[in-house]
Amino acid sequence: MLNIVLFGAPGCGKGTQSELLEKRYGLSHVSTGEIIRREIGSGSALGVQMKEYISRGELAPDGIVVSMIENYLAANRDVKGTIFDGFPRTTAQAEQFDKVLEAIGEKVELMIYMDVPEEELVKRILLRGKDSGRADDASEEIIRNRIKIYNEQTAVVADFYRAQGKYEAVPSMGTIEEVFERICAVIEKKL
Ligand code: ADP
Repeated sequence: MLNIVLFGAPGCGKGTQSELLEKRYGLSHVSTGEIIRREIGSGSALGVQMKEYISRGELAPDGIVVSMIENYLAANRDVKGTIFDGFPRTTAQAEQFDKVLEAIGEKVELMIYMDVPEEELVKRILLRGKDSGRADDASEEIIRNRIKIYNEQTAVVADFYRAQGKYEAVPSMGTIEEVFERICAVIEKKL
């Protein structure tokens, strides 16, 4: 199976590119951010707890997001591969993810880092916040906190995959189509 971790700071365009990749390669796509937002929308006890983290721009606890991914994998067995969007976001998540995949005879093939300068990220998220309805997109303070947490806790996840020889960086400025073609070129090398 072709399991791809699509990686990069908030606002780098992971969600947009995931949808295009899903279509071109017939892959399944999972976003932990979306699962969390759905949970919040359902009004469950877990959702109430998750809202606390998200609204501050903080990360949800590792154990919870890893079980969300485990549930997703259990429910989506017959797929050609999966794009993991926004997961893993800490080294602990990456380590646990390897174990979860190993247990089902799978592994991550490729990690694609979407490289976008920080000021562009803030601009894009503020723009998205105008119609996404996401509370964590509306305030520059929360956005800057998400980027800070990304720099402190998430950026190092790249080293984890670099050490496994799976890391590929893609310059992600330019049009959606231009970035998509660059990502596809990286994937084609793997196929
Ligand atoms: P973005 O990449 O633009 O920040 P996401 O939809 O991927 O948007 O995530 C939104 C929020 O959900 C994050 O700021 C974080 O609070 C939470 N979240 C998503 N994925 C994870 C994860 N793997 N670990 C911890 N928290 C997560």
